[in-house]
Amino acid sequence: MTRLWNDPADFADEMIDGFVAANTRYVRRVPGGVVRSTAVPAGHVAVVVGGGSGHYPAFGGLVGPGLAHGAAMGNLFASPSTQQIVSVAKAADAGGGVFFTYGNYAGDVLNFDAAQDRLRADGIACETVTVTDDIFSASSAEKHKRRGIAGDLTVFRTAAAAAEHGYDLAGVTRVAALANERTRSIGVAFTGCTLPGADAPLFTVPEGRMAIGLGIHGEPGIDETDIPTADGLAELLVGRLLDEVPDGVEVAGARVVPILNGLGSLKYEEMFVVYRRIAQLLDDAGIEIVDPHVGEYCTSFDMAGTSLTLFWLDDELAQLWETSVDTPAYRRGSVGHVERADARADSASDAEVIPPSDEESRATAALVRRALETIVATVDANVEELGRIDSIAGDGDHGIGMQRGSHAALAAGSAAADAGAGAGTTLMRAADAWADRAGGTSGALWGVILTAVADRLGDEGTPSATEVAAGIAQGAKGVMAYGKAEVGDKTLVDALVPFADELNRSVGSGSPLADAWREAAHAATRAAAATADLLPRMGRARAHGQHSVGTPDPGAHSLALIVTAVGDLLADDPE
Ligand code: ADP
Ligand code: MG
Repeated sequence: MTRLWNDPADFADEMIDGFVAANTRYVRRVPGGVVRSTAVPAGHVAVVVGGGSGHYPAFGGLVGPGLAHGAAMGNLFASPSTQQIVSVAKAADAGGGVFFTYGNYAGDVLNFDAAQDRLRADGIACETVTVTDDIFSASSAEKHKRRGIAGDLTVFRTAAAAAEHGYDLAGVTRVAALANERTRSIGVAFTGCTLPGADAPLFTVPEGRMAIGLGIHGEPGIDETDIPTADGLAELLVGRLLDEVPDGVEVAGARVVPILNGLGSLKYEEMFVVYRRIAQLLDDAGIEIVDPHVGEYCTSFDMAGTSLTLFWLDDELAQLWETSVDTPAYRRGSVGHVERADARADSASDAEVIPPSDEESRATAALVRRALETIVATVDANVEELGRIDSIAGDGDHGIGMQRGSHAALAAGSAAADAGAGAGTTLMRAADAWADRAGGTSGALWGVILTAVADRLGDEGTPSATEVAAGIAQGAKGVMAYGKAEVGDKTLVDALVPFADELNRSVGSGSPLADAWREAAHAATRAAAATADLLPRMGRARAHGQHSVGTPDPGAHSLALIVTAVGDLLADDPE
C-alpha cells in the first residue's frame, strides 16, 4: 500500500524533485533524469543507466563517483522516453562516448535503442549492454530474453569502475558483457505492489504462499509454493543458482559477490536471518565470499519479497570491484576529495533554436499543424473506446496514452510553427513531444513514425508525394526495427505496413497524394479490423492472448482511425 501522494500523475516527477533536493552533493537534475553534480575527467566514458521509477535506489540513487554518470528516470514502472534518455546522455557525456546499461525490458530496449541511434547520428559514440540476470524469466538457451533485476548493480558497477579507470568505450562494453554473463539472480515475493493512487496491487499472492520468479514491475511469479522457513528459502535460492553456474566457472574455490536484495517492504532483520544460512551454504560449497551485500538495491515499489544474486568474479572483475563508490544510496570504500562540476548549460538549450526554413516549408508546416489538430480530435472522440479495447488483453491505457501523446505533439508542433519552423522541424518537435509524454509502447512507436516522416519533409520546399510516402515507409521500417513485431503479430504494424505499401504503390503509379492516402487509409482500416482474428505475439497483450480474439488490436485500430481522418483533411486541402 502506498499512502502518501498528491496527484498520482505527478508522483514520479515530485519524487525526483525531492530526491534531487536531498542529494545535490551527488546529482543535478536535467530534463529526463539526473547526472552527477561532481566533475568527470574529460574523455572518460559516461555510464548512463535508467528505467522506470519505483525501483529506488535504482536508478537515480546509483549516480555518483565510481558508479553511474547519469540516470534516465521514467514514470512509475514505465521506460523513460527516447528524448529523456538522449537528454540525460548528452548532459552526462564527457567526450569519451556513452555506455548504456539497464534491465532487459521491451519498452526500455525500444527507447534506449532509439536514443542510441539518435546520439550516434549526432556523432556521439554509444554502446549498450542490457542486464539479463533473472534465471527464472527464460531458459538458459534463451538467455538474451531474460529480464534484469538486482543484477543491474554488478553490471553497472563493473562498467562504471572500468570507466573510472579510463577504459575506452570498447573496453567498458567488454567488461560489462562479461559481468552480465557472470551474474545470475532469482527472486521470490510474498505480496504484490500497489502504485500510488491504485486501489489494488498489480498482483496478489495467497496468504501463506510465496511466488517464485517474480518480475520487478509487478509481473506475477512463474511458480508458487508455501512460504518456507528462512533457512528453507536460503536453500531454495542458493540451490537454484548453483544449478546454473556460468560457463567455465569451477564452484569450489570461486570468488562470489552475493547480493541479497529486498524488494521494498521486507525487513532487513528477516534478510539477515536468511543471509546467515546463505553464507553457510556458499561456504559449504567451497565458495570464497567477497563483499557481501544485504539490503535494498533494486526494489519493486512496496513489494514484500527478496532476490539473491551471485556475481562470479574473475581476476579483472575482482580488481574492478575494489573501486570506491559514493552515491546517494550506495557507498563502498572512500572516493576521497571530489571536485564539483561547473554548472554547465544544459542540453535543453539546443532544443530551443529553430533551424532556418523557407516559405514553402512554412506553408507545409501549417498543414502539419492542421493534421495534428485532426489527430487530437480523432483521439479525443475515441479515447474511451481505445481504452476499452486495450483493457481486454492489455492494460487499458491506450486511449489516455494516445491522448497525452497527441495533445503534447500538437502543443509542441504549434509552438514550433509559431516560431517560424519549417515542416520538418514542426513535425520533429511534435514527434519528440508525443514519444516523451505518451508513455507506453505505442507512444514510442508513434514517435518513430512521425520522426521518419519529419526527416523527409525537411525545412525547405514543398515535399513531393513520393517523399511523404517514402517517409511513411521508413516509419514502418523503423517501427519494426525497434518494436521487433512483424505483420501478423497483432500490433499496429498490421495496419501500418498495408498503409505504407498501398500509399507507395498508389503514389508510384502517379496518383496525387490525397487520393493515394485515402486508398491507403482504406487498406489500413480493413487490415486493422482483420486483427480481431489474430492472437497477439508481442507487447503486454501476449500474456493474455486468448482474451483478445474477436477484438481488434488497439494500436492498429487507432492508427486506422488517424490515417482515415488525416486523409479527409488532405482531400479538403489538396495543396
Ligand atoms: P502499452 O502496451 O505500453 O500499454 P499502449 O496501450 O499505448 O501501450 O499501446 C498498445 C499498442 O501498442 C498495442 O495495441 C500494439 O498495437 C502496440 N504495440 C505493443 N507492442 C508493440 C511492438 N512490439 N511493436 C509494434 N506495436 C506494438
Ligand atoms: Mg496499454
